[in-house]
Amino acid sequence: MTTRSMDPEKPMGLPDYHTHTARCGHAVGTPAEYVAAARAAGLTGLGVADHIPLLPDPDPVLSMSLEELDAYVREVEELKGAYPGYVLLGIEADYRPHTVAQVSDLLAEYPFDYVIGSVHHLGDWGFDDPRQLAGYETRDIDALWAEYLELVGDAAESGLFTILGHLDLLKKFGYRPSQRVAKQWERLVARLAKTDVVVEINTAGLHRPVAEVYPALEVLQQLRLAHVPVTFGSDAHHPGEVGRDFDRALELAWLAGYRDFVVFDGQPGGGRAGRRLAPLPAVGPRP
Ligand SMILES: [Zn+2]
Ligand SMILES: [Zn+2]
Repeated sequence: MTTRSMDPEKPMGLPDYHTHTARCGHAVGTPAEYVAAARAAGLTGLGVADHIPLLPDPDPVLSMSLEELDAYVREVEELKGAYPGYVLLGIEADYRPHTVAQVSDLLAEYPFDYVIGSVHHLGDWGFDDPRQLAGYETRDIDALWAEYLELVGDAAESGLFTILGHLDLLKKFGYRPSQRVAKQWERLVARLAKTDVVVEINTAGLHRPVAEVYPALEVLQQLRLAHVPVTFGSDAHHPGEVGRDFDRALELAWLAGYRDFVVFDGQPGGGRAGRRLAPLPAVGPRP
């Protein structure tokens, strides 16, 4: 692996495709503030991908409201105009089996460059919500993993999503999968390889109890062997978190054997951005 010195102001030649805004009710900052932070950090692109209204009943602390979606799209489109080729209009949408048709209709109304698909619920249980932690105490963890991984595969095959968000989110509070679900992981990776979804390397997990990037290195290695492409996201909920720990994400991509990653090219007027593979930048020296 080659190493070169790194300007801390221009760290790594990567885009950040997973950022939120104050509209979702649990983040701070305007899209313009995230764009400014990305430019200051030397990132090569910035995708705003706030939480789409959570269907069927948007919760004001989990997602923006249906009324705000128009303004969100307009605001990011204006930034796309101001920074052509740099800013992308994304959205993060939940995969829940009973709302697929509604989500599909809503996504079709707007010219999103890409859609991050995320599983945050098993049934009605929001398993990544700190207010609902008790749910782990009464359930078998490996059974949860099996159910979760099946849903992620269904999400990939739904055709709704460009990127899969935080692929092993169920580990957020430290409930990691055991070897007993190794077969289910293999099955998921095989399913992903048959779709055209991209998996994000999401650094937010480093700041959660699990203290680990999503997905884990072992998962990334399997994805690489199956030729599933990756890209990068911080899942920033504050402008100061844009591109956070991307040096670590880049290092993991190299360690997993990746040599390239997916870049999206937003078209004026939008609607499913073009994608291309770009060479992975070299990793800088470890701090
Ligand atoms: Zn969020
Ligand atoms: Zn998410």
